[in-house]
Amino acid sequence: MDNYLITFEGAKKLLEENLFNLEPVKIPVKSAVSHILGEDIYSPLDLPPFTNSAMDGYAVRFEKSDKEMSFKLRKGEIKAGDYKKIKLRPGEAVKVFTGSPLPLNADAVVMKEFVEVKNNILYVKQQIKKGENIRFKGEEIKKGEKVLKKGTYLNPAGIGFLSTMGIREVKVIRKPRVYIIITGNELTEPGKKLKEGKIYDANSFSLYSVLKLIGIKEIKIKIIKDDFEKIKRGFYKALEFADIILFSGGISVGEYDFVRDLMKRERVKTIFYKVKQKPGKPLYFGIFDEGNIKKLIFALPGNPASVLVCFYEYVYPAIKALSGFKDIFLPERKFILLKDIKKKTDRLWFLKGKLKNDFVLPLDFQESHMLSSFTKADSLIVAPRNKKLLKKGEKVKVHLLPF
Ligand code: AMP
Ligand code: MG
Repeated sequence: MDNYLITFEGAKKLLEENLFNLEPVKIPVKSAVSHILGEDIYSPLDLPPFTNSAMDGYAVRFEKSDKEMSFKLRKGEIKAGDYKKIKLRPGEAVKVFTGSPLPLNADAVVMKEFVEVKNNILYVKQQIKKGENIRFKGEEIKKGEKVLKKGTYLNPAGIGFLSTMGIREVKVIRKPRVYIIITGNELTEPGKKLKEGKIYDANSFSLYSVLKLIGIKEIKIKIIKDDFEKIKRGFYKALEFADIILFSGGISVGEYDFVRDLMKRERVKTIFYKVKQKPGKPLYFGIFDEGNIKKLIFALPGNPASVLVCFYEYVYPAIKALSGFKDIFLPERKFILLKDIKKKTDRLWFLKGKLKNDFVLPLDFQESHMLSSFTKADSLIVAPRNKKLLKKGEKVKVHLLPF
């Protein structure tokens, strides 16, 4: 019956063909986590920048050989952050701390746990190896070396790493600005009294939250009644701001579902509409093309679970692509089913699942208006189109949710 619909695989392919990278922008390193680097990074300095101690203890210089077990302790000490040009004479030691700059001619650092000091003589209780507990200047990175490649994902360590090189600003691929248009006469804002026939708006909150987790900072939300003119005005306002517009609701075939009509009448190129999947069959994807500026438009069917399934399967990959990621779709793995799945549809069915070791449990309450199972889910089981029954013990395809 749904034969005219595009398949999930077909929709994914069309989606991918229409994606692109946004332009690189220079931003503070502090705000750059979860971005893709838009430039190669060359280290402006050696790392470590100077030879220093890896331990709290004593820097020693051998007199003749590394068999020596006692040293003449110099007065004073070198603390982390100190700058003292101390030169050790043969057979001498000086107190140092982790990170202290070392005298140029120190042979090793002995940990304080392995020494005894008596009458200004340092007795070492364990054999010392030359170079032991010394972090040498440039041993990790040489000044001028390419340390991070364009296209690298910046994780928190990446941010710290850029900072250890003293870098404050970095070129990254810009993340998209997203405008969410929530439609529905029935929607009430949480916190307000719920009148007969109304429901609380869930989608603006779930979408806002998932966008925040992806690291999208520029998000606008507009809640609009099922009124063609109002939705049209909202759409043009969204176009001024957004790289991606997300409609929630109003894309089905009901008489008050105006979004499809709007897309047809305005200058939006439909890439696909309606996918052979459950939930989220009425999903719409189009492009507003203004010469060199392209904006992606997704209309997500309003049921709260459909919204999120469509988000994870289509919008999340699109955001990743625009943000410069190469690997955009949810990771797919195989897991062993813990329960039979009886399919009531010939469409591909995404079921909320919970993973445990090699197994996946299809959760109860899978209907598209139900969110409770989604709150426990870490994955979507992909039940293929033309299968009626997936049996317990069978290996099934599973998409891993990122959050
Ligand atoms: P629609 O896609 O507009 O036909 O909506 C499908 C179903 O989702 C209806 O039962 C709506 O009441 C519900 N729905 C639409 N938008 C939201 C929303 N923002 N929050 C919760 N439920 C919604
Ligand atoms: Mg509606």
